[in-house]
Amino acid sequence: KQRVTVIGGGLAGTECAYQLARRGVPVVLREMKPHKRSPAHKSDALAELVCSNSLRSDNPESAIGLLHAELRALGSLVLSSADLHRVPAGDALAVEREGFSREITTRLQSGAGVEVVAGEVERLPEDGVVVVATGPLTSDALTAELERHVGTKLYFYDSIAPILSGDSIDMDVAFRQSRYGKGGGDDYLNLPMNRDEYYRFVNEVKAGQKLVPHSFEEPKYFEGCLPIEVMAERGDDTLAFGPLKPVGLKDPRTGKDPYAVVQLRMEDKAGTAWNMVGFQTRLTWGEQKRIFMSCIPGLQNAEFLRMGQIHRNTFIDSPRLLAEDLSLKTERRVFFAGQVTGVEGYVESAACGYLVALAVHARLTGTAFMPPPATTALGSLYRHVTGEAHPPDHPHQPTNVIYGLFPPVSGRMKKADKRAAYSARAKQDLAAWLPHAGVQVTDAPQATD
Ligand code: FAD
Repeated sequence: KQRVTVIGGGLAGTECAYQLARRGVPVVLREMKPHKRSPAHKSDALAELVCSNSLRSDNPESAIGLLHAELRALGSLVLSSADLHRVPAGDALAVEREGFSREITTRLQSGAGVEVVAGEVERLPEDGVVVVATGPLTSDALTAELERHVGTKLYFYDSIAPILSGDSIDMDVAFRQSRYGKGGGDDYLNLPMNRDEYYRFVNEVKAGQKLVPHSFEEPKYFEGCLPIEVMAERGDDTLAFGPLKPVGLKDPRTGKDPYAVVQLRMEDKAGTAWNMVGFQTRLTWGEQKRIFMSCIPGLQNAEFLRMGQIHRNTFIDSPRLLAEDLSLKTERRVFFAGQVTGVEGYVESAACGYLVALAVHARLTGTAFMPPPATTALGSLYRHVTGEAHPPDHPHQPTNVIYGLFPPVSGRMKKADKRAAYSARAKQDLAAWLPHAGVQVTDAPQATD
């Protein structure tokens, strides 16, 4: 049988290797630790949680809790190990991190059909199927090698702008219009500011509390996507000549040119989620909410689906580079899994590793890869990576699983009812798809220690 090489023993690589082996595919898992470590990795174990010990909300009516439930139904290695090493944390799934990583390491090393080989991979193996799952801190040598294979530079930083729920924006303030009426003429939502509002906003951004970068995250920003606070520091008018420039926009209700405009771009095809254009920032999440809601007209009741952030992150332009089965369009034996595809977070990366195992298995057995339904959390992540969840030409930026990636549920409902509706629909559609994942029984794992 053909052996598959999985590179990177993090959240995605371990899940992928385990699921392949569970389906009878021999795997060699190559992990650079303990010979070499990224600046954030400290332990020798596989599937290391580099920061928080929380896998976030376990409430199945939240998008992340729904992803937990789906992975449990699929017999995920990461979720079952988390459940075994759970510590009390309200409705969050938090784990005892050493026990969790040890569990995964032991299960992979003890006859699961996976050979774990330590050492940095600098060049992709010459032949055979390869899964690249080296994460946000892929080593420099492999990054250069991947750039040769994909034919472009890899992204080196997330510059993530906040995303707002469409129905939380005050439409008595916002107006739909494209700059100079370009495109459809009304692709953007615009939040106009007068002079006083603009300068108050700039002062708050300058004074607001920011996150301090990690030592390995020396800020090396691209001029094209500077954080708002860096622009504000360059001069009080810099933002008004940058992302908040009002040119080509006229408020149809007043007929006036605003002093500055915050533009919102559609994040999903249905317009349920809107991205704050150019608002990448290191302001703390609390400060983002406080400043944006109190200073930007129309956002007084805003619901944030994702907060702005900037951190070191190696990832590829998946929607343009990857085929439907998450293999490289130009080199179909090379698959990508985990955060390097542009998903964000421990659980999302494990979920992506699982999907790639299904895709590789389909390839090796000559069967069709059947992605999960769009209405499921797994399907929404898959569609984020392939770009299907977004309008055409949408710039690829990493994201956690959020309901903004799902096809919207119809009808006006209270927020809680809407979440319940997303969750119920996903549960039903996942059940119909499970046989395509080759899942007969869910694992009932026993602790290995
Ligand atoms: P990783 O888990 O990073 O695994 C990649 C593995 O590949 C590593 O073990 C690495 O050693 C190995 N590797 C790299 N290069 C090579 C090579 N050339 N050869 C062999 N092996 C290699 N997510 C959250 O959900 N919550 C958080 O609190 C959180 N905090 C974070 C803090 C920091 C500083 C960073 C960088 C990330 C954080 N994340 C957090 C994101 C989270 O780490 C990732 O989403 C998740 O770990 C990605 O899984 P992965 O398998 O894609 O990559």
